[in-house]
Amino acid sequence: MTTEADCIFCSIVAGARPCHKVLETDLVLSFMDIFPASQGHTLVIPKHHYETVFDIPESAMQAVSVVAKRIAGAIRAELAPDGMTIVQVNGAAAGQTVMHYHVHLLPRTQGESMRLHGSNQADPARLDALARAFAARLIELHPQ
Ligand code: 5GP
Ligand code: ZN
Repeated sequence: MTTEADCIFCSIVAGARPCHKVLETDLVLSFMDIFPASQGHTLVIPKHHYETVFDIPESAMQAVSVVAKRIAGAIRAELAPDGMTIVQVNGAAAGQTVMHYHVHLLPRTQGESMRLHGSNQADPARLDALARAFAARLIELHPQ
């Protein structure tokens, strides 16, 4: 596993930092954003450390994208949002604060404005419930 010593997301992948996990595959991890910009804000990351779209191999990006699509479907099945913003930023100038490639899944409500970064840490019990609900929806939508 390619890891970066001071990377928050690498610590999550290694299990050294907790997260509210939605899905883990060989290459990809998905978990709840702890400072959600909208209810259900979920992240999808490669387990290896790549900083940006310019660093990640196409195969890993593909794996992340497939999981992002599936989890977007699970979020929609659970929360029935009016829409969903899916965004991925590269470099501090673009708003990237964690330098480990990631995709944001942001359920949206009609008429409600949103910034990419939430200002409050979410209630862990709520994040746990959402992560479990999304994981259950994934199994419903994509039975093995
Ligand atoms: P960026 O600003 O790089 O696009 O997004 C980084 C995201 O990671 C932000 O939405 C932020 O709330 C989230 N984040 C930062 N630290 C942690 C953490 O320790 N755990 C989780 N689950 N999310 C985090
Ligand atoms: Zn990392």
